[in-house]
Amino acid sequence: MTLDVVMLGPPGAGKGTQATRVATARGIPHVSTGDMLRAAIASEIPLGRQVKAVLDAGQLVGDDIVIEVVRDRLGAPDALAGVVFDGFPRRVLQAQALDEMLADRGALVIVDLTVTDAEVVGRLSRRRVCAACGAIAGSGDAPPSDACSRCGGVLRQRSDDREDVVCERLAVYRRDTAPLVEFYRERPTFRAVDGTQPPEAVSAAVAVAIADAAAAVSPVS
Ligand code: AMP
Repeated sequence: MTLDVVMLGPPGAGKGTQATRVATARGIPHVSTGDMLRAAIASEIPLGRQVKAVLDAGQLVGDDIVIEVVRDRLGAPDALAGVVFDGFPRRVLQAQALDEMLADRGALVIVDLTVTDAEVVGRLSRRRVCAACGAIAGSGDAPPSDACSRCGGVLRQRSDDREDVVCERLAVYRRDTAPLVEFYRERPTFRAVDGTQPPEAVSAAVAVAIADAAAAVSPVS
């Protein structure tokens, strides 16, 4: 049965780190709309030119654009058994479009990573991303080392992790994305996980939450 997962939570909640782990553990793709948009910007394709200023300002890209990006991605053969969404949906309209896109698939599990605003600002100011392999560094309490511990690549700060843009992204999250928690909360497959725990503890809790939510809707044999 297809099992799709949505990781919800504010910027810096650990969605990327946790989504990567879930995807690896379940052998399904990690679908980060932010990564896909940044890749489009880096490769200077028309989509990238269209969205660059929006990302730099910490605002949300148009719904039609991201919905199309996700629809394309879900059509790829490796998405058949399910995907882990990270950064999508970000508006109720996107969540409604996702429900339609997934209508013929199996269960959709929603994991909401909860963290405080103070924690978010601290984490994002420490966060670095490897320019070579995309690994996230500095996601724990320790400051990141100079080089990527996975591949030795150069670590960089995302342009939208600067403090002024982070405040804007948090405001956008509260206004546009937080309502998704209410949109999903009553579903039997919604689970909230305390994202302020150390990353390993969050991963364990996320794995339990997904298994528990999937069992809640799996057909009884
Ligand atoms: P992220 O890497 O998820 O923090 O996304 C980085 C940026 O990409 C966001 O601040 C938005 O500008 C854009 N973005 C990513 N996903 C979406 C989405 N689902 N809807 C609109 N904009 C998005």
